[in-house]
Amino acid sequence: MKCDRCENQAVYTRKYSGQKLCSQCFSNSIVRKTAKTISKYNMIQNDELVAVAVSGGKDSLALLKIIHEMALTHNFRIKAITIDEGIPGYRDEALEIVEKFCGELNVEHKVYSYKDLFELTLDEALELRESKKTSSCSICGTLRRRAMDFAAKDIGANVIATGHNLDDTLQTFVINMLSGDTNKIGWMDPDTSTNSLRKIKPFCEIYESEIVFYAFTNDIPFQSEPCPHMSEGIRTEIREFLNSLENQHSGIKNNLYQSVLKVSQIVKNSNYKEKTICEKCGNECTGNICSVCNMVLKLKANQT
Ligand code: SF4
Ligand SMILES: [Zn+2]
Ligand SMILES: [Zn+2]
Repeated sequence: MKCDRCENQAVYTRKYSGQKLCSQCFSNSIVRKTAKTISKYNMIQNDELVAVAVSGGKDSLALLKIIHEMALTHNFRIKAITIDEGIPGYRDEALEIVEKFCGELNVEHKVYSYKDLFELTLDEALELRESKKTSSCSICGTLRRRAMDFAAKDIGANVIATGHNLDDTLQTFVINMLSGDTNKIGWMDPDTSTNSLRKIKPFCEIYESEIVFYAFTNDIPFQSEPCPHMSEGIRTEIREFLNSLENQHSGIKNNLYQSVLKVSQIVKNSNYKEKTICEKCGNECTGNICSVCNMVLKLKANQT
């Protein structure tokens, strides 16, 4: 089987388009698609410093490699940040991999822990939650958002790049729909150009399976140990459901992604609220106190 773009042997077939590619042409296609997404949504501007959030998983390390190569030939700079949730066993392996990979690429890297920022590790925070109904990932995700904002400010970046792929976006969309959290769908618009601190997802239009293949074919080391809380939420079930749909109907994830883009813009515009400043931390929010401060205050109140 010959590559559609060169004389080499094809190693990957894109089921939804029928395209057959050798490993070099496949990797080039991922790099090009990432660059196209960045330029389509004006994700990075001239002279900016981009904080690349690197967890140690395949997506974030692949993103670091691609965005690092782009930075060498474009007018922007990068630094890597890692958030340490304080999950025993799990984060240690990741930190080692990230440290080594950043060293090889010569990218500056800094770690920020929940313990230092909130005086609580994730496990301590979970002990303090009022009800087990609040999932570990929803507490962890809220704390991580604030930790990343802090880290970006600390290194002087006003853009944070994360490795979220198209599958992550679809899963989040379905979870928000199933939980009735329609407001959050407005946050899914990839155009964040009006925010003071922009969160960008350069892989948001690439299938997870393609990032896995990119990481594999480029020998990117990644963490094998899953987070012990990963199977607690509904995300794994939604992931399997969407994968089985895609197996039967190639390209259905791309179709759903197009719907997410349209719906998220409509929700964002209809939910427009003047931004206020949180009276506790000074970050942007839409009430008196932001959701992160609100959560941390509640957890701390249970501590005494
Ligand atoms: S799986 Fe959930 S608890 Fe574990 S690191 Fe991710 S968000 Fe946090
Ligand atoms: Zn080729
Ligand atoms: Zn706040």
